[in-house]
Amino acid sequence: MIRLLNSDFLIIGGGIAGLSTAQRLLQQGALVTVLERGEVGQEASWAGGGILSPLCPWNYPDEVTHLTTHGAELFPAWAQELRTATGIDPEYEKSGMLVLPSFDAQAAEQWCAKHSAYPIHQVCAKHYNLLQGDALYLPEVAQVRNPRLLRALRQHVESLGGRIIEKCAVSDIVVKNGRVKTLSTPSGKFNARGYIVTAGAWSKEILGQHALRLDIKPMRGQMLLFKFDVSPLRHIVLQDNLYLIPRRDGHLLIGSTLEDVGFDQHTTREARDMLWQRAQKLLPSLRDMSLMQHWAGLRPASPHNIPTIGRHPQLDNLYLNSGHFRYGVTMAPASAEILLNEITGAKQPFDVTPYQAGWGT
Ligand SMILES: Cc1cc2nc3c(=O)[nH]c(=O)nc-3n(C[C@H](O)[C@H](O)[C@H](O)COP(=O)(O)OP(=O)(O)OC[C@H]3O[C@@H](n4cnc5c(N)ncnc54)[C@H](O)[C@@H]3O)c2cc1C
Repeated sequence: MIRLLNSDFLIIGGGIAGLSTAQRLLQQGALVTVLERGEVGQEASWAGGGILSPLCPWNYPDEVTHLTTHGAELFPAWAQELRTATGIDPEYEKSGMLVLPSFDAQAAEQWCAKHSAYPIHQVCAKHYNLLQGDALYLPEVAQVRNPRLLRALRQHVESLGGRIIEKCAVSDIVVKNGRVKTLSTPSGKFNARGYIVTAGAWSKEILGQHALRLDIKPMRGQMLLFKFDVSPLRHIVLQDNLYLIPRRDGHLLIGSTLEDVGFDQHTTREARDMLWQRAQKLLPSLRDMSLMQHWAGLRPASPHNIPTIGRHPQLDNLYLNSGHFRYGVTMAPASAEILLNEITGAKQPFDVTPYQAGWGT
């Protein structure tokens, strides 16, 4: 059975990449349907910390800097647009980020001098009630609350006329004469004019032979959640890969691990103890707190953290917006804009050819 949806675009995967792409296409007047294997916004996009910056931005190549910087610039207006349209506040907040030792101070200073959007200050961490000496403070770093952002995004997509079909896993991409013809799902076949894969860590598996040399794989990250009466920190605090993210209402997130364990989404006692103990060294009051929640998500990991965004090199009506690895929330508004520009032929905000390299062609 072929289901004719009269859709201009079928989007595979309803995480932040899929929903932000759907939103931008709908705003251009396209008809859009999102096919989601489970429920939208429940995988990596839900699991993340919502820091709107690379952890130590000076450690990444320009391709990551361009996308994260542009994403961070677009975010305040995007969050406000969603809040106005839906009444759901994603709690965008410029809370700043403190980077504790050890870090390469010279590399950080050189990088920040080159990228004026990232001012940086040398500070003493003792002023922030942390048990460390010298630190770097990045005042422009913002955060958002992922579950709220996703709820707002879903509601906005639906209010713009987008169709979301959940519990609908795409099992096959059927190709004929150099074009995608249909998508197979247990609920039948779907077809459209254009097809966009935004299936996060599962993107390569869905593309099958059409993935060419795409290198996107799952990378597990575990997070802990605590609740204080009053937030114990004013800023996001980062030390190596450990970060503490204070929310407005006293919630404190602690993350994260980087585990190459395939599609295993279990949490582990080792990771819980490691994160909790390391965080206690920075914030001793955590010792007496009860753990509220512990979860794991699968990041769509790409080499050098550079996602693939754009048209498939061989299949004319197939697009990808995936592989954002550690920064898919930060990059989301910029990636959706780049994909939309590619589809409509509009001018790009910067050179986007590096985001085609992932196909390996
Ligand atoms: C612990 C952790 C902390 C993080 N912290 C941050 C942070 O602070 N800042 C930041 O910017 N980023 C962060 N990230 C990264 C960010 O969350 C991801 O890069 C981003 O969410 C990826 O979004 P996505 O939409 O590509 O993937 P996902 O959110 O995983 O969405 C993919 C969707 O595709 C669906 N799908 C899969 N297979 C199929 C199929 N066959 N058919 C239909 N649908 C399918 C899935 O069910 C899923 O809903 C973090 C990630 C983790 C795990």
